[in-house]
Amino acid sequence: MHQDVDHILLTEEAIAARVQELGAQITHDYAGKTILMCGILKGAVTFYTDLARAIDGPVQFDFMSCSSYGTSASSSGNVTIRKDMDSDPEGADILIVEDIIDTGVTLSCLMPLLKERGARSVRLATLLSKPARRRVDVPVDYNGFEIPDAFVVGYGLDFAGRYRNLPYIGVLKKEVYSK
Ligand code: 5GP
Repeated sequence: MHQDVDHILLTEEAIAARVQELGAQITHDYAGKTILMCGILKGAVTFYTDLARAIDGPVQFDFMSCSSYGTSASSSGNVTIRKDMDSDPEGADILIVEDIIDTGVTLSCLMPLLKERGARSVRLATLLSKPARRRVDVPVDYNGFEIPDAFVVGYGLDFAGRYRNLPYIGVLKKEVYSK
């Protein structure tokens, strides 16, 4: 796995430190509330479990799996839900936990959907954001790192189902994904 990585963008230590900071901020912002953490499968799982343990307050776990189809800059895309949340969003304070916001299409569909279902609040935490690639504006409440426009793997993020278990975030060698 490691030989397919061009270079390490974020070390294990840098990620851990930033996740602690985000956890402290979320703990402060949600004081007195129970957070319904909605992780987006599968890429967000590693970030999700670390972030949950960095939050010092009541948290409930839930997950969604979706795929987005957005074709042009003018299209807001459609999102297909492959696995929905088990919990009732009505009146809940939902914190969506995502691995990376790229074009923004997926989240721009998902956030209004959860609000329509009666959630009291819907906020977004993402480990990574690629602002240069954004096609749809998405309000990011908690952002781990802004990264350049490169294809990254590790810490939950995959290429063709691989590399999710790398403990760091690395830029994949071009020859690996252009094969
Ligand atoms: P978008 O914001 O474009 O709707 O979609 C975000 C999704 O695209 C992420 O959840 C992730 O699955 C995928 N994605 C975007 N950029 C990258 C990347 O650099 N590496 C990996 N592994 N997945 C990415």
